[in-house]
Amino acid sequence: MAKSLGGKLHTKILAGLLLGAALGILANTLLGGHHPFTEWVNHYVAGPLGQVFLRMLFMIVMPLVFASIALGVAGLGDLRRVGRIGGKAVGYFLATTFLAAATGLFFVGVLRPGDAIDAPVKAELMATYAGDASAKLASASGGGFGVHTFVNIVTRNPVKSAVEGDMLGIIFFGIVFGAALTLIPAARAKPMLDLLQSLNDAVIAIVGMAMRLAPYGVTALIFGVTSRFGFALLLPLGGYMLVVLGALLFHAVVNLSLVLRLLVGISPALFFARVRSAVVTAFSTSSSSATLPTALDAAEQGLGVPPKIAGFVLPLGSTMCMNGTSIFEGVTAIFLCQVFGIDLNLVQMTVIVVMSVITAIGAAGVPGGSIPLLAGIVAMFGVPAEGIAIILGVDRLLDMSRTAVNVYGDISATAFVARSEGLWNASMVQDPRQAVPAPERA
Ligand code: ASP
Repeated sequence: MAKSLGGKLHTKILAGLLLGAALGILANTLLGGHHPFTEWVNHYVAGPLGQVFLRMLFMIVMPLVFASIALGVAGLGDLRRVGRIGGKAVGYFLATTFLAAATGLFFVGVLRPGDAIDAPVKAELMATYAGDASAKLASASGGGFGVHTFVNIVTRNPVKSAVEGDMLGIIFFGIVFGAALTLIPAARAKPMLDLLQSLNDAVIAIVGMAMRLAPYGVTALIFGVTSRFGFALLLPLGGYMLVVLGALLFHAVVNLSLVLRLLVGISPALFFARVRSAVVTAFSTSSSSATLPTALDAAEQGLGVPPKIAGFVLPLGSTMCMNGTSIFEGVTAIFLCQVFGIDLNLVQMTVIVVMSVITAIGAAGVPGGSIPLLAGIVAMFGVPAEGIAIILGVDRLLDMSRTAVNVYGDISATAFVARSEGLWNASMVQDPRQAVPAPERA
């Protein structure tokens, strides 16, 4: 396994983040949002650099998910144990996502940012982002949520799933494959397990290479966002953004800290220190999937969670556990109802919370992955689906923040499950040199 990403690297990434933001805001202030010079820099320098970094991460997500899940399941040995651990993980995902959505609902219900948007501002925002909205809506033709959502998890063709980025399909195939390896004679299973282990190690080594690019990639990605950002939108949408960001911060700092103390038995400050590089990567990439390799590194090397638990729970979490996204979905749905003058009763609010949880589970861990699903929720309450145009201009900033909370929640789930299985506890984190050696997978 590659060495941990180390303290120096995430200081560099953080420096890159600040530098990119400062340069972007400077360019935006001096030259305006879409100046030809900024566009040139974004097209020929920042864009390509950011893309290369992102692609290095995306390149390895599918082999990593497959290898880590199959090894995790094979390492756990018997299927009942896999079921129990999977059950605990999903229970934790649901409980924290629900808590997150309820927190968002509370903030948006009390502060009512939608009342601040008057008709002319609403019309202007909708006109500006109507094109973007219809593009997002077009991509939402997934057929909604239903029995088929579950049937589709059973992939018909794992290679096709990998090609199409269908993470749940690959997770399912990985589980079945890992389980099958425990059912055949050990001598027969060993070559395949060794192969998977090599694949896993090689992929983790690629993460190391990608992360060396991270400080530059992050600078480029953040510059791209801030240099083009419509800061003029901050005024009318400032209240809404503050509510989303406030609820995200509250969930991360208060709710999850309590959960970490009470259920995971670790000091939130120590936990954060060990997973910081994953949170920063999530913030800069806006993608839980792209952050998965870094999150695995943070959980296994930073916290010392055994790979067979982290390798199983984190890939599941990166697609199913989205605390930040559920806050965003709930707050935005209610905000749009407020803007369109739709009063919600208690039952409808509850429906929004439940839908926020379901769509957060269903959203893909890619930038803007939850937007098409959001359109589905608001449409249920009589807000025109194109109404999401109102918030699209500021979404990237919110996406970065909610993805950071998503990943923070995913890693907390991993620590929770490992502790509840008696395979890990916080004392193993205090001094990394004394951490228990990661137990063998198989
Ligand atoms: N970008 C988010 C993630 O990858 C998904 C979303 O809320 O759009 O976690």
